[in-house]
Amino acid sequence: MATPQENLLDWLRDAHAMEQQAEKMLRAQSERLEHYPKLKTRIDFHIQETLGQQKLIEECLSRLGGSSSTIKDITGKLMAFGQAVGGSLMSDEVIKGAMAGYVFENVEIASYTVLIAAAKAAGDTLTQAACEEILPQEQAMAEWLLEHLPELTQAFLARSEDPNLEAKK
Ligand code: MG
Ligand code: FE
Repeated sequence: MATPQENLLDWLRDAHAMEQQAEKMLRAQSERLEHYPKLKTRIDFHIQETLGQQKLIEECLSRLGGSSSTIKDITGKLMAFGQAVGGSLMSDEVIKGAMAGYVFENVEIASYTVLIAAAKAAGDTLTQAACEEILPQEQAMAEWLLEHLPELTQAFLARSEDPNLEAKK
């Protein structure tokens, strides 16, 4: 068995690992993008938000007496590295990357929804407030990606059928 506070601390550690993975994924995508400036700009904006989220979660962890350097963090970094390498081999990496980004943002939305409920149950109003600050940023990024997938697809298809243009990134 475990108290709500103990579960909350575990989930905060998971969230910290998730945000480190998010940063790695977003940086890898941004660094490779050349022909899709709107997507790159939105990703760069979310990298800055992600750094702020990491700081908020770290503050929660240190307030609750937990460290953020766990094995899970290391696993997350390795997974992100694998994904970044994998993406570069695909001829449609911009599309696969945007799709993966949308999935990732929705995992983040689910995670912060759980954390908010757990923080409420644990009576931890500061953790609740931190997660309520982060959640709308993830929702906005998910919405932006979904809204822009059609125009991104059109841009990719147009470049893809032109022999003089590179489409993949
Ligand atoms: Mg995030
Ligand atoms: Fe995010």
